[in-house]
Amino acid sequence: MFRKDPDHLYRAEPLAALPWLEHGFGTRLSEGWHAGRRTALLTQVHSALALVAERDGLIGEADALISNQPCLLLGVRTADCAPIILADPVHRSVAVIHAGWRGAAGEIVARTIQLLEETYRTQAAHLTAAIGPTIGECCYEVGPEVASRFERWFPERDDLDQRTRLDLEEALYRQLVEAAVPPQHISRSGLCTRCGEEEFYSYRRQGKAAGRMVSGVAIWP
Ligand SMILES: [Zn+2]
Repeated sequence: MFRKDPDHLYRAEPLAALPWLEHGFGTRLSEGWHAGRRTALLTQVHSALALVAERDGLIGEADALISNQPCLLLGVRTADCAPIILADPVHRSVAVIHAGWRGAAGEIVARTIQLLEETYRTQAAHLTAAIGPTIGECCYEVGPEVASRFERWFPERDDLDQRTRLDLEEALYRQLVEAAVPPQHISRSGLCTRCGEEEFYSYRRQGKAAGRMVSGVAIWP
C-alpha cells in the first residue's frame, strides 16, 4: 500500500487517493522537499502531546500536530521513530505524529485522535491512517524498562520483562485499531530505517550525527 515516487518520497496509496490532500514520507534523498511551503513544525521532545496548528513556523514543544487549515504543511522529523499521518475525509482535517517508544508508550496516537475529535468532531471510524518507515523489529532491541511498557499491546508476548526486540510499527498499528480506526483504513510501510541505509537516516545506525527525514501532510482547497 506504499509506493516510492520519483521525488524520493514514500506515499500511502489510500492517502494519495484523496484529491484534497498532499502527503509524503521523507527519505534521505527527499531532503528539503518541504522548503518553500508554509510548514508547521514542532520542537520534538518525545512526548505524547498534540497541538493544533493554525499558522506556519514552530508551533511548540510537542510531538503531534493537527489542523484543518488549507495550504499548511504539517511536518515531523524522524530518524528511526515512526511518522504517522491521519486524514479525516469527512471534516477535512489532518494530523501528523512523531512516535518513538516514549510517544507510543504515552499513547500519543490516542491523544492525537482525541484532539481531532474535540477540535474537528472527527470520528476515528472515518480516519485514513498511514505509518511511515520506522525502525523494524529486526533492529530494535530494547531493555525490559522499555519493553514492559508495551505489555498492553502485546498480550501474547511473555518476554517483555527482559531484553528483547520491539515491533514499534505493530504497536502503533494496534494502538490505531484500539482507538477505533478500522484496520482496513491503516497502511504500514514495513520498511526498516536502520536496514535501509541508502534510503533512510537511522539514529541506531548513525548515532547523534544522523540526519532527520521530514514527513508531512497538507490540505489543498
Ligand atoms: Zn532492520
